[in-house]
Amino acid sequence: MAAPLEDDAVRISIYLRVRPVTNPASKVEIEADEGQVAFTLPRDAAGGYVNNSRENYAFKFDGIFDAEAKQDVIFERTSHKVVVGALDGINGTIFAYGQTGSGKTFTITGGATRYADRGIIPRAISLIFKELSQRSDWTYTVHFSYLEIYNEQGYDLLDPTHEDSKSLEDLPKVTLMEDEDKQIHLRNLSAHPASNEEEALNLLFLGDTNRMISATPMNQASTRGHCIFTASIEARKAGHDMVRRSKLHLVDLAGSERVSKTHVDGLILKEAKYINLSLHFLEQVIVALQERSQGKARSHVPYRNSMMTSVLRDSLGGNCRTVMIATVNTSAEQLEETISTCRFAQRVA
Ligand code: ADP
Ligand code: MG
Repeated sequence: MAAPLEDDAVRISIYLRVRPVTNPASKVEIEADEGQVAFTLPRDAAGGYVNNSRENYAFKFDGIFDAEAKQDVIFERTSHKVVVGALDGINGTIFAYGQTGSGKTFTITGGATRYADRGIIPRAISLIFKELSQRSDWTYTVHFSYLEIYNEQGYDLLDPTHEDSKSLEDLPKVTLMEDEDKQIHLRNLSAHPASNEEEALNLLFLGDTNRMISATPMNQASTRGHCIFTASIEARKAGHDMVRRSKLHLVDLAGSERVSKTHVDGLILKEAKYINLSLHFLEQVIVALQERSQGKARSHVPYRNSMMTSVLRDSLGGNCRTVMIATVNTSAEQLEETISTCRFAQRVA
């Protein structure tokens, strides 16, 4: 049984988050006002602009968070409604998109030390169990899984053999299967029940530990892969046979930076090719869905082109809410990537 569609369940909401400066000397000035953001470049010694770029660039977002924005505000403004919606039967997907170092993992998972720096996943877990404790008309079961997609291969971050594995090659691979009803299933991806916040947080912790273990031998695989933390929610109404199923996907995308062909070896180039392609396919799917929702004649949504779009198939388009948080930094050296992140966000908006 699907919950009724609302207006906002069609459009994807796009936010911009600017991380704190790392080098104040080469800072790009950012001015944000009512969802408009403009970047103004510092002038170089000759009075020109860095890289001969234009003086400023302007983009529009559903909301803009500056470097001072705290994690609780980010969660409230971008994610609260999506999480509650998932408990009401509306699929939800929240992405962080941006170059490596721009704050995707900080936004989705959070900082490692301070409690106040918890990101969207732990806050979503907390909200899920708080809501469930207040709902008595439905009985809920929630399962969690944690998938990493690296070079178009899926890996189960909650697989118990992960800790003993020396390299990704030793790990069982998660594969896609389609049943007679064209439903996509994932083989070898475990789903773990949790009945309270603590159990769910332990699963997150296990997955993040595994993510770091495989990152070391595999050349920072964790920033070169997409990580999808999923809560699968099942609700049964007391006294009825009714079952309602929905999913909440929290996605830390691979770094979006372009890799210069002249400076990298074969492995990184191969990774970059996969990342660029999969982000491109994600963009294609979102754009096709937006066009479809606007009634434009384009019926085909190319989900099958990549593993990520196949996995998210049921949760992008249709009965769902989608949020993308584009993360950028303000250093002048990174301006090209910042602009490129904003352009991506505008194309899918
Ligand atoms: P990404 O996942 O995009 O590669 P990270 O989230 O790992 O980037 O961020 C890089 C570093 O910057 C980390 O040490 C992180 O804690 C820090 N950082 C990122 N965004 C913020 C922020 N908004 N406030 C404080 N620290 C941040
Ligand atoms: Mg990261």
